[in-house]
Amino acid sequence: MHLTHAPSTLAAGGAIGTHMHGYIAPLRLRLNGDALLSNWRWLAGMSGGAACGAAIKADGYGLGAVEVMARLVRAGCRDFFVSNWGEARAVEPLLDDGVSLSVLHGVRDEDMAQALASRARPVLSTPAQAARWRAAGGGPCDLMVDTGMNRLGLDWRGGLTAASEGLSIITLLSHLASADEDTSLNPTQLARFRDVARQVKATRYSLANSAGICLGTDYGFDLTRPGLALYGGVPSPVAAPHIRQVVHPQVQILQRRRVMAGDTIGYNATFTASHDMEVAVLNIGYADGYLRGFSGKGVALRGDVRLPVLGRVSMDLLAVDVGTAPWLVEGEWLDIAYDLPAASAASGLSQYELLTGLGARYDRIWDG
Ligand SMILES: *Cc1c(COP(=O)(O)O)cnc(C)c1O
Repeated sequence: MHLTHAPSTLAAGGAIGTHMHGYIAPLRLRLNGDALLSNWRWLAGMSGGAACGAAIKADGYGLGAVEVMARLVRAGCRDFFVSNWGEARAVEPLLDDGVSLSVLHGVRDEDMAQALASRARPVLSTPAQAARWRAAGGGPCDLMVDTGMNRLGLDWRGGLTAASEGLSIITLLSHLASADEDTSLNPTQLARFRDVARQVKATRYSLANSAGICLGTDYGFDLTRPGLALYGGVPSPVAAPHIRQVVHPQVQILQRRRVMAGDTIGYNATFTASHDMEVAVLNIGYADGYLRGFSGKGVALRGDVRLPVLGRVSMDLLAVDVGTAPWLVEGEWLDIAYDLPAASAASGLSQYELLTGLGARYDRIWDG
């Protein structure tokens, strides 16, 4: 849904509150384009000699795939990854010469017509997909080999030659299961991938996601595929000083109210006021990806003033303590603290969930 908002905010030069239908949502994501590019450039530097691509699946991890891709193309990124052909369709108009788009979930029968007509390539991951693509004379493709995650891909242990025969493979991929941890599975997958690369001929080889890039250039091969870290996620302590926050949720105050000592706030009355308080009710809730893990844990901000979440997060609303900020009245805008590592620690949600759960109700407004 929110993809349709994107061109209007672009055309309007990112002016606040501009929307295709003239509707100004009571919550918005301020998206920092400079931070996105700075993150990509840092990841590209860390990729050593490898080209640095971008995973833009799940609508650019919730930011808006079209907007993300347009910015990264302008910065020089040439290799993009989406999950399925519905996502591919949304960004295909941005496929200039030299820009490549890979569809990670391969091709089903239902996808073949689109895939054959598309400039995007399937990432074939099963013998049946490979056979389907070969039989259709599908042309250039990518191939995924599983090296230990047991998610998508041909089994690294055998049958690769038969399954890949006759395919014109641009990129041979594998994916790391635990790159964000210091575990022996990383060098094990690396060794297996090197072995696979000796057996299967491809133009390029690609193993590392964001966390994999942080493991060192051994993991880079020809092409890296960061997602999370582009958008401000910190996959490894190595990245912490360099990755900038991209997503800044902002939300409007819907009501300011007085709560008396002994009153409770929200569903199931999980918060009891120990003294008279001033509370603001905000236009955001778990339907906006601000899940109930933030109940009693999240923080809204206005400048340096911290406004703790009180009680449970509702579907569309939550309450914060505004006792220290008498000027914050109905209609004022607040920031939601959303530094991803900190918000993840506070809420128990992963940094990935914090990004991809952001819903369709935000106006997405790019600064830069
Ligand atoms: C999602 C994904 C990526 C990006 O991973 P991050 O951890 O977000 O950097 C890379 N490769 C594949 C195959 C993926 O599915």
